[in-house]
Amino acid sequence: MKKQIATIGLEMHCEFKSNSKVFSAAKNAYSEIPNSNIAPLDMAFPGTLPVVNKKCVKDALKVSIALNCTQPEYMVFDRKNYYYPDLPKGYQITQMAYPIGINGKIYIEVNGKLIPAYIHDVHLEEDSASLDHFFDTSNIDYNRCGVPLFELVTEPCFHSAEEATAFIEHMIRVYRYLGVSDADTKRGQIRCDVNVSIADEDSKELGTKVETKNVNSLGGVAGVINYEIARQTKLKEEGRYDEVEQETRRWDEETGTTIRMRSKVDAIDYKYFVEPNIPKYKMSDEWKKKVASTIPRLHLERKIDYINNHGLSNYDAEILVKEKAISDYFEECLALQMDAKAAANWIITQILGYINKNNTNINDLYLTPKRLKDLIDELDKKTISSKQAKEIFEKVIEEKKEVSDFISKENAQISDKDELTKMIEEILANNQSQIAEYKNGRTNIFDYFVGQVMKQTRGKANPVLTKEILTEKLK
Ligand code: ADP
Ligand code: MG
Repeated sequence: MKKQIATIGLEMHCEFKSNSKVFSAAKNAYSEIPNSNIAPLDMAFPGTLPVVNKKCVKDALKVSIALNCTQPEYMVFDRKNYYYPDLPKGYQITQMAYPIGINGKIYIEVNGKLIPAYIHDVHLEEDSASLDHFFDTSNIDYNRCGVPLFELVTEPCFHSAEEATAFIEHMIRVYRYLGVSDADTKRGQIRCDVNVSIADEDSKELGTKVETKNVNSLGGVAGVINYEIARQTKLKEEGRYDEVEQETRRWDEETGTTIRMRSKVDAIDYKYFVEPNIPKYKMSDEWKKKVASTIPRLHLERKIDYINNHGLSNYDAEILVKEKAISDYFEECLALQMDAKAAANWIITQILGYINKNNTNINDLYLTPKRLKDLIDELDKKTISSKQAKEIFEKVIEEKKEVSDFISKENAQISDKDELTKMIEEILANNQSQIAEYKNGRTNIFDYFVGQVMKQTRGKANPVLTKEILTEKLK
């Protein structure tokens, strides 16, 4: 058999965050209490009408622009009709004919190399309710009904589990950087349909794709892809490739296999038509520009910048861009003209260490980039040792004080003449015999007195002033 090439396309769903749901005023929030965040519309009560949440449209537009998609002139929604108990209206409001973005292209990093990822389209829709199955009943929880759901459909452009999961990880960060979603896989905010096919290496056509629905972890996505490649390849080897059919399967976490749910041949006809209760909405170029201006520099661009223009290692740059807040903090340091490597080291070792240990957030940290700069400046001036710097670091945060407060109190030289004089007088009073020796000509004992002053002040007495006062007193 010829060498096989796998092809993968993803349909990635992401729950957006917003105050209210995408078409109703109910709260968009997870709740343990079923049916607590719902409005009549979410349960399809007669007479209710959808009202589009503008923030959700704005966020969808933001992602569309960030992925270099082409946007339509109008925002238009369609009805996708089918019956299922988790869909009380009997249809889902989604976008079919004019999705908010088409033909996108971005680069993602896989094993240190940049590869292109092609986006077929992105669209905004509503999530369904969720079903809780018990021994002999199933309950419907409408809390999730109408939660804004953003769907991204890629072209069949990936060729391994590694590439596909790298894309998902990339997108999770894009959603977080854009602030449109927490994109938390553990809370089911990211769910993927994974399409896999295989074909001969030199084939011009793609093989039959098999779709595995609703996979909600990166491990699951990788599992599906690897399992499907192996399953389809084996069937082909055995001359039974016709058994690979367009079908929908599900991922079984326990066995690490995919299980057939239904054939695509008897696919439902969704009878799409324009959602008549939502007027089409013109997205002016002005508005698009305004939304585009809120898009921050994304993680990969920042990472490449840190490596190429600020001399950071791949490892350090990767840690810094993991979270936008941390990367923003680092960029504030750069804006303060701090040394990039020094700032990166402090952030990665001390700050991230402190944050993890104390379960806090970098935005709440009292040690702002400006205060970190003060600290590193003192270290550069050698006013403090690196051990002292680490102590002051914690104290600034814990006591909410300035770096200078600790420099003057604990570390700075004692240069107050009166204070030193008083101290030296006391020391001399306790060293009468040495004074006598000194006066008898043992002038090298002078260093002994200096030593005593240093001992008492733990090295902080100003040496020039100390000698001056001592000379005066020993006359
Ligand atoms: P459908 O009509 O079944 O929804 P589409 O052509 O719209 O199929 O594609 C749905 C998803 O399947 C997309 O993510 C696409 O990239 C992927 N896909 C399409 N053809 C293949 C294939 N031969 N192998 C793997 N994935 C594919
Ligand atoms: Mg879909």
